Amino acid sequence: MYIPEEKVSEILNTSDIVDVISESVILKKSGRNFFGLCPFHSEKTPSFSVNANKQIFHCFGCSAGGNVFSYVMKYHAITFPEAAKMLARKYNITIETKQINPAKRKQLHLKESLFRLNKTVMAVYFDGLKNSKMGETARIYLERRGISNEVIELFKLGFSPDKWETIVQVLKEQKISKSVCEQSGLILEKKQKNGYYDRFRNRIMFPIFDINMQVAGFGGRVMDDAMPKYMNSPETPVYNKSRILYGLHAAKQFCRQEGFVYIVEGYFDFLSLYQHDIKNTVASLGTALTSDHVRILKGYAARMILVFDSDAAGISAAKRSIKIFMNEGVDTRILVLPQGHDPDSYVVKHGQKAFNELALKAKTIMQFLLQVAIDTHGLSVEGRIRILEDMKQHLILIQDSALRSLYVKELAETLNIDEKAVLEKVRELYLSHPEKKFILMDGKKQDDILESDRREEQIISLMLNYPEIIDEMKNKDVLTYFYSEKLKNLAQKILSVDPDKGAFITNVMAGMENTEDQELIASYAMDDFISEQDIRKTALSIIHRIIRVRKKRENTLTTKIISAEKGCDSDLMDLLKKKQAEIQQLHDQL
Ligand code: ZN
Repeated sequence: MYIPEEKVSEILNTSDIVDVISESVILKKSGRNFFGLCPFHSEKTPSFSVNANKQIFHCFGCSAGGNVFSYVMKYHAITFPEAAKMLARKYNITIETKQINPAKRKQLHLKESLFRLNKTVMAVYFDGLKNSKMGETARIYLERRGISNEVIELFKLGFSPDKWETIVQVLKEQKISKSVCEQSGLILEKKQKNGYYDRFRNRIMFPIFDINMQVAGFGGRVMDDAMPKYMNSPETPVYNKSRILYGLHAAKQFCRQEGFVYIVEGYFDFLSLYQHDIKNTVASLGTALTSDHVRILKGYAARMILVFDSDAAGISAAKRSIKIFMNEGVDTRILVLPQGHDPDSYVVKHGQKAFNELALKAKTIMQFLLQVAIDTHGLSVEGRIRILEDMKQHLILIQDSALRSLYVKELAETLNIDEKAVLEKVRELYLSHPEKKFILMDGKKQDDILESDRREEQIISLMLNYPEIIDEMKNKDVLTYFYSEKLKNLAQKILSVDPDKGAFITNVMAGMENTEDQELIASYAMDDFISEQDIRKTALSIIHRIIRVRKKRENTLTTKIISAEKGCDSDLMDLLKKKQAEIQQLHDQL
C-alpha cells in the first residue's frame, strides 16, 4: 500500500503524539516534557519522554525515539503504511487503499476471517450453555462454583457439547473455507484424513478476548477429573499467547484507576475476583509470563501483584516468573495466599475487603525470595551460608544500585552477617559472570574523549533546535574537527535539510533512512541543555572548544609517539599506538 505524501503530512499535522502515546503509556507532565515508563525496555523510574511542541518521543534509557509514526510502528510492530492507516482511522482521515501487496492482503483477510469464525463459535458455545439440554451439567457446575449470570454474560462463557462434530457442522453450514477452519485450531483432522472433529468437547468454554474485544481464542475446562483439566486454543495468526492476557480488555480501565494490577493464574480466579468487585485483575492462563506481557501491563498499571497459591507448585511458579519482572524493572509484589487457598476460594470465603487487606502485605520480590530461602535452609550456621549463596544469584540481577544496597543491608541484618561480607559475595559472583550485563560498581567513564563527544552531541542538539545557527557551523567548518564519524555523518544529513521549509526536526527525521538515526535525532532534539538566551554565544564557545581540544590532543599524541620512536621505547610505543587505536574504536562504536 502506498500512502501519498500529502496524507502523511495531514496525519502529522492532525495527530497529537501525547494523545497517541497516552493510549499505551501512563504519561505525567514534568517541565516541558511528559514522562512515563518506557514500553520498549525495562525500567522502574520513567525515562521515556514525550515532547508535545516538537511532536517527538525519546527514551533516555534505551534511546528509542522518533515521531508519532515511529512510535506506532515500534509499539505495535507494524509497517509504516499500517501505522499510517491506524493513525488515519483514529483521526478520521480517509486514505484510499489501492496498492496493498497481495500477500499482506491475504494475511489481513485471514485474520478478519478468523476473528469472524471465533465470534460465530463463541455464540454457539454461549447458546450451548444457556439453552441446550446437554448444557445442564455445565450450568450446575458454574452455579456450584458461584459464578453469577452477570459474569457469564459479560465474559460470554459457554459450553462445548460432548459431541465430535458440533463445530465441524457449524463451519460447514457457514461455508467457511477449509484452510481458515484448520488455522482456527478449533477443529482437527482425523487420523485417517477422512474428515474433521472438534477440539473442545464437553467443556466449559472461556472465550479469550484481545485488547480490542475481538475473540482471539478459547480455553476449555472439564467438569470432572478428566485430563487435561484445562485446554487452550493453539497459537493462531490472531492468538499470540505471549501477548494476550485473559481479562485485560475488561480490566484495563480499572488497572488505571487503581494504579496496580493483580495477576492470577486461572479463569476462575479471575472471574471470582471480578465478581467480588476486584476488577483490576488479569489471568496468565498457566502460560509462562513473558516480557511482552509485562510491558503491555506497564501501560495500564505501575505496580503488579502476583497472586499465587501457597502450595509447592504455586511457589515454584512464582519463582519462575520473578526473573521476567526483575528484568523489566517493574514494581512487583508477591502475594502468597494462606495454606490451602487459591484466589477464587479465598475471596469466596473471606470477601473482597479481606483480600485487599491481605494484598497490602504482599512481599517485595527480595523479601519473598528470602522467605523461601529461609523456609528451605533454616537459620543454622550452614543454613545461613546456603541462604547467602541463593540470594546472591538474585541480587546481581537488580539493576538499580540504590535498591540493591538496600537489599544487601536487609539480607545482612536478617542473616546477622556483616554487610561487607554480603557485598563481597555478590561482587565475586558478578565478576565471574559470563555476561557482565549488569554494572555492579558504578564505574566512571573518565575518558576525556567522551567529554568531547558530549560537545559534538551538543552541537547537533543546537542545530536541530536552533537552525538559525547552522550558518555559523558551516563558517567554522566545525564538522571536520568532529571525532565521532557517526555524529559527523548525522550532522551532515541535518545540513542537507532546508530549515526555511518549517517543521525542521520532523523533516530531518523523515530524511533518515534507518530507525537508529531517527532515534538519535529524537534524542538530540530532546536535549534542552541550553537556556534560550545567548544561543549564538553558547554555540560559538562549544565550537571553539571542539576545535581546540582536537588540535591539542593530536599534537600531544603525535609528540609522544615521535619521542618514543626516537628513544626506541618500544613498550611505550605499543602502548600509545594501542591507545590511539582504542580511541578510534570508541568512536567507531558510537
Ligand atoms: Zn526505553
